[in-house]
Amino acid sequence: MSIGANALKEEEILKRIEAAKGKLGRDLIILAHFYQHDDIVKYADFVGDSLQLAQTASKQRDAKYIVFCAVSFMAEMARMLCLPGQQVFHPEPQARCPLAEMAAIREVEEAWTILKTTGRKIIPVVYVNSRADLKAFCGRNNGFVCTSANAKKAMEYVFSQGAIPFFFPDENLGKNTAHSMGIGDEEMFLWEPDFAVSEEDVEKIKDMKVILWRGFCYVHMAFQVSHVEAMRKAYGSDMKIIVHPECVSEVVRLSDYVGSTSYIRDTIAKAPPGSQWAIGTEIHFVDRIKRDNPDKFIVPLRDWACREMAKVTTVKLLAVLEDLVEGKPLAGVTVDPETAKYARIALDKMLEIS
Ligand code: SF4
Repeated sequence: MSIGANALKEEEILKRIEAAKGKLGRDLIILAHFYQHDDIVKYADFVGDSLQLAQTASKQRDAKYIVFCAVSFMAEMARMLCLPGQQVFHPEPQARCPLAEMAAIREVEEAWTILKTTGRKIIPVVYVNSRADLKAFCGRNNGFVCTSANAKKAMEYVFSQGAIPFFFPDENLGKNTAHSMGIGDEEMFLWEPDFAVSEEDVEKIKDMKVILWRGFCYVHMAFQVSHVEAMRKAYGSDMKIIVHPECVSEVVRLSDYVGSTSYIRDTIAKAPPGSQWAIGTEIHFVDRIKRDNPDKFIVPLRDWACREMAKVTTVKLLAVLEDLVEGKPLAGVTVDPETAKYARIALDKMLEIS
């Protein structure tokens, strides 16, 4: 069914979502990422960060339909983790994370061929914000997936195997995680997919501890040193600054705390009443934390939204649900079986070490 975005009043849309949810009952599970709009979050059965949503998706056994409100790679991930008989729907397949598009399988395979010539033991670690074929690449090559909540555990695991990580596609998460383990910039090699690698570079890699990939989240890159400085100037040292590890390392270094969305939410929830917080992550999430913690003073480090997450709207959610009620759903999320098989190996390994 196609519902004109302007044809219905928001109140009517919400009422119909409620009614459709009621009719679908236990056959339906709605999962939503923390960065979704409040009107989506309020209908979700589970709200969380990528790791929590992956864990939740892998445990669904009763629901026939899983509706995933987030960007496309997360819906793909749910498809690979749930049972074959379950169907996964994404209300807006065009909501695609730009970071996930910054490493193409051909480029990663080319890099891998060269990296193998260094003679180092290297384990590929792909950030969950990536396409299914990259997750499958890791599954095929003894690697695995990580999220911002378990990136440190992932690197620790790699080092415990006497190997070094080839970490892609988010440079900042890889670099900030390595910094938190005492690894310096001079011990990291940045792989630039658009530039040729020289013999000298290959020699350099032989002495490196981490190999990073040139990729970034445009939302978290928007937080700059000047925003941290302005916050300190305006509020002094009582204002604690907490940011996501997809921010650039200069911002992370100047901040008081760094961690995944669930870490940010939990840290502020546990903070004493009256404490002051400036949060450097997506604005819908910051606004929700603010509402959930009325006893604290909370401001965004900068008011910055993820436009891809915002493409999932209530009217699109309603369309999916009403199609399910009518028994005529549109095509669900699919991943080709061979890709899914190896990606699942990499995802399962992540869940195992988390
Ligand atoms: S916030 Fe950044 S990483 Fe997350 S979905 Fe948006 S663009 Fe991708």
